[in-house]
Amino acid sequence: MTASSTPSADFSSLPLSAAMQETLRSLGYLAMTPIQAASLPLTLAGQDLIAQAKTGSGKTAAFALPLLHRLDSRELSVQAMVLCPTRELADQVCQEIRRLARLEANIKVLTLCGGSPIRPQAESLAFGAHIVVGTPGRIMDHLERDNLDLSQLRTLVLDEADRMLDMGFHDDIVKVARQCPKDRQTLLFSATYPEGIAQLSKQFLRNPKEVKVASTHDAAKIRQHWFQVDDSTRLDAVTQLLWHFRPANAIAFCNTKQQCRDLVDVLTAHGIEALALHGDLEQRDRDQVLIQFANRSATVLVATDVAARGLDIAQLEAVINVDVTPDAEVHIHRIGRTGRGDAEGLALNLASMDEMGRVGKIEQLQGRESQWTPLDSLHASGTEPLHAPMVTIQILGGRKEKIRPGDVLGALTGAAGFEGKQIGKINVTDFHTYVAVDRDIGRQAVAKLNTLPLKGKKVKARLLMDLRQDER
Ligand code: ADP
Ligand code: MG
Repeated sequence: MTASSTPSADFSSLPLSAAMQETLRSLGYLAMTPIQAASLPLTLAGQDLIAQAKTGSGKTAAFALPLLHRLDSRELSVQAMVLCPTRELADQVCQEIRRLARLEANIKVLTLCGGSPIRPQAESLAFGAHIVVGTPGRIMDHLERDNLDLSQLRTLVLDEADRMLDMGFHDDIVKVARQCPKDRQTLLFSATYPEGIAQLSKQFLRNPKEVKVASTHDAAKIRQHWFQVDDSTRLDAVTQLLWHFRPANAIAFCNTKQQCRDLVDVLTAHGIEALALHGDLEQRDRDQVLIQFANRSATVLVATDVAARGLDIAQLEAVINVDVTPDAEVHIHRIGRTGRGDAEGLALNLASMDEMGRVGKIEQLQGRESQWTPLDSLHASGTEPLHAPMVTIQILGGRKEKIRPGDVLGALTGAAGFEGKQIGKINVTDFHTYVAVDRDIGRQAVAKLNTLPLKGKKVKARLLMDLRQDER
């Protein structure tokens, strides 16, 4: 089924509660995305589903709405479970479910992922939850320890099923699914449809409906430019692209971790705030990188494909393909991260002579020729340095110390005397709090935070930027 055959893209055509309709309006979800329009009439009617659509197409709401629809909030039992490949993705899914559930009665959503201690998760489970979102390995752990009772489960979701298979979660998924009641609804979402998915679905889904939205669907909305380079100029060319196009933020994809590290060094040397996201990072470092990128303290996120899996970064102005990927589908996924919603996207692709075979495969898949621009026709626009507008302050102390974003904002705008508009995003994690502030007040704000009490206690604060330099 394709988007064009769907009857209505209006959420009001769906059997959703008035509260949910109101939530959708307040979130600015005015029309269904194609995958939502194609799947929601089926899933809200209780059908099992296999859905395939590219990253950024609104798959989360496509499964969150039916699982919330089937949920009875008066009964405190685990009624829905979402399996995701990574912790970041689980966090994002959890946030989206909470956003969508905000006008419904108190619905408890828990994330259960590796990389965090298991005992606090077990304690939270003992208090009760309606929805759990997590990685298959950690969920399996909880099942083996009898922490998690799935006997009341009504909806099972496999999100990014292709990625979970890639990451070796097949056996865990099988074991977890076996512990779910037979009469549940199962929804499987995937960006691609490899053989393993068909096998998985045969095992667990009951007469599933299949819904597919073409992966190149809105590629026309993405402006793609190709630039020929050789390996000795490739990394400097990235700087040149940034100076010319001046995106507020960008992801630069590399094929290897080493290339990621090298590119970060080159960009940093040019005064461009760039951070690497690759598989060798500890979970805490990954979190810090993503927080700094999302709060606008870093302009460029330099990532491998594996590390960037499942990330949803809203409003990404540009994707830079530093290396051409050997897999043309991966190219489509990479560039699909820019230009979401109505925004036009920008994809800047570098390729050397050796990579032209790969470029050919991409042209074939996209059904159009590449447009080449000579690199030396680009000129730096403007003379302003390309600094990210914010810097991130790290405060030692987080959720465990009961710090809330409002406490930090209150301290900075109250006693410290800063203006609200100088303060950006505030993220509270278990042990740390991260606050973005205007770049030019960074040091003053750190000094104030180190002298003022927060929640009645003295705290330690420092600029994350300085921390990174110490580690070099
Ligand atoms: P996917 O899982 O397919 O990669 P997401 O579910 O993460 O995509 O959605 C991508 C973005 O689109 C999110 O920021 C989400 O809030 C937004 N979104 C989803 N559905 C709609 C809609 N109907 N209208 C507007 N924005 C939407
Ligand atoms: Mg998703």
